[in-house]
Amino acid sequence: NFLSAVVTPDEIGVKFDDIGALENVKKTLNELVTLPMRRPELFSRGNLLRPCKGILLFGPPGTGKTLLAKALATEAGANFISITGSVLTSKWFGDAEKLTKALFSFATRLAPVIIFVDEVDSLLGARGGAFEHEATRRMRNEFMAAWDGLRSKDSQRILIVGATNRPFDLDDAVIRRLPRRIYVELPDVENRMKILKIFLSQENLEQGFRYDELAKATEGYSGSDLKNLCIAAAYRPVQELLEEEEKQGASSSTPSLRHLNLEDFLQAK
Ligand code: ATP
Repeated sequence: NFLSAVVTPDEIGVKFDDIGALENVKKTLNELVTLPMRRPELFSRGNLLRPCKGILLFGPPGTGKTLLAKALATEAGANFISITGSVLTSKWFGDAEKLTKALFSFATRLAPVIIFVDEVDSLLGARGGAFEHEATRRMRNEFMAAWDGLRSKDSQRILIVGATNRPFDLDDAVIRRLPRRIYVELPDVENRMKILKIFLSQENLEQGFRYDELAKATEGYSGSDLKNLCIAAAYRPVQELLEEEEKQGASSSTPSLRHLNLEDFLQAK
């Protein structure tokens, strides 16, 4: 139960198409991971084409790093294990060695697998000097040793994807092990529009809904912020209906909700 999730590709349910924007990131991940995991034989000869062992996704909170890692597992046909750095270091006081061994032996059995380490900075952050907890230090050393110890046969089919909002906190030793670093940025206006279209595709919007206006009005929003905004806006017609019912008494027919309009979103901000 130290793992927050272990899922097979069929269960993950997220594909690259469900992620709005981030086209370059998806393309890079496909080249680096999907192909080598699906066709390892093409990467086993020579020195130039080597499967990548570790990837760091970094960027502001809520930009879709977790989502990308999950979708990547779907695309690559890999299982997906997710662990959170801060949970590991707080819970597993003293049992670092056992835990890390279990994780990696489990991963070897589940291969092909993507091990997603969220908040990788708190597990593998810069050495904390005198104030660092002994358990954290042990955990990190164990993790790195197990990682390095993956036999080359396994390493082709086990990929570690770390995510962080604080890349500058990472230790050099970690940076070296995550040779590919990919910046996951906040969406610009065009990309906010793409993301909004994904979230709102099934919603009851007014005719000619101005996605462009909404995208313009949400400068600085992450994908996650946009999702929360859409949820808050979608509540407004429901709220109104409930208030109306309160005044008039519920009608016996099925209530019909009005269309969502731009104002709902602007008011929900
Ligand atoms: P954190 O750094 O806070 O852990 P994160 O970068 O891992 O955040 P996610 O957890 O992947 O972000 O995103 C949170 C939620 O926001 C997702 O479940 C998804 O619903 C939504 N989201 C974020 N970015 C996108 C996107 N580009 N397309 C579609 N949904 C997105």
